[in-house]
Amino acid sequence: MRRDGISRTMADKSTSSDATTVKLPETPAAPPRKIYPIVKYGDPVLEKPGATVRTFDAALEELSEDMFASMYAAQGVGLAAPQVGKGIRLAVVDVSNGKNSEAKIVLVNPEIIHAEGEVREEEGCLSIPGFRGYVVRPQFVTVKAQNLKGEPFEIRGENLLARAFCHEIDHLAGVLFLQHLSMLKRDLIKRKIKKLRKEGEW
Ligand SMILES: [Zn+2]
Repeated sequence: MRRDGISRTMADKSTSSDATTVKLPETPAAPPRKIYPIVKYGDPVLEKPGATVRTFDAALEELSEDMFASMYAAQGVGLAAPQVGKGIRLAVVDVSNGKNSEAKIVLVNPEIIHAEGEVREEEGCLSIPGFRGYVVRPQFVTVKAQNLKGEPFEIRGENLLARAFCHEIDHLAGVLFLQHLSMLKRDLIKRKIKKLRKEGEW
């Protein structure tokens, strides 16, 4: 999920061009990581349900760390594996923007097992840069997932964290936030993207 999608102050002045002026979170003593390019809307990998992860090995751990690095580089608060071209049920979330290492959450094969309340807030997506829309999400969710060792756990999220969980778990089902918008708003965004693509800017 895109960070400025949920912050009004950022949203007001956010364009794809000012992303370069935002200070990147510092990651001291972190080993060099692969920064994946973020797959953009239109790539079929984004609209296909991801495969269940069954192998919990070093490669999965590497991928999740590379996904955190790619997410921080792109100013996001959540990133799903299909957004880096991997069609598996893995997502990373950090609503602290890398400021707090304890806020790093890896979700393997996650599912929402409880949801409560409703919040309508503006949302964006790293795969749909430059576009935002209001999406109603639960205020609280409980997610059941596995960690990188394959151990099951449950985690509860509220407000922004709940929104990030819902947004990323949607990605793992091949669902984008566009699908939660009104048909009018969705078609408008799709038309604009089509135009950008024609101009070679997407
Ligand atoms: Zn997204």
